[in-house]
Amino acid sequence: MATKIMIDAGHGGYDNGAVHNGRTEKADNLNLALALGDALAERGFDVEYTRTTDVYDSPTRKAQIANEAGADYLISLHRNSSPTPNQYGGVQTLVYTDSGVQGELARAVNSELEKLGFRNINVDERKDLAVLRRSRMPAILIETGFINNDYDNYLFDYNFEKIAEGIANAVDNTID
Ligand SMILES: [Zn+2]
Repeated sequence: MATKIMIDAGHGGYDNGAVHNGRTEKADNLNLALALGDALAERGFDVEYTRTTDVYDSPTRKAQIANEAGADYLISLHRNSSPTPNQYGGVQTLVYTDSGVQGELARAVNSELEKLGFRNINVDERKDLAVLRRSRMPAILIETGFINNDYDNYLFDYNFEKIAEGIANAVDNTID
């Protein structure tokens, strides 16, 4: 049986996530989720999504969707934001605990995205994120650059397909 990857596009519906000059995190997350899903399907993974349209579910509900689907891994896609524009930049991947395969996967994702020009901030443990805390399978949350950083948005838009391919390669190379 193929390994099942649940892809979660962060936010949605009334919840825009971070916003910068009319650009919404929820839309960036969904666009990347769909491209990542295609890239993973091409590599033989069984792909499911918590959403494929602009709808809201709570982070807890998104973890439940992954649990109910019997997903082997959960990848939640987000974008970061700083108090003032262009204050920070780079990619950061969040995990509930930095151990085992989810720690490896998080580092692999950061390395792939660093190759595309993003600053590699780090892998960070976060205990307060329901999508990570409530999911029962290895789970990572990728902050794909800062939405209020011009250089990160340039990378996000012009390397868009390569970002999806890079994350898919990280998954393919890390998961047996
Ligand atoms: Zn977010």
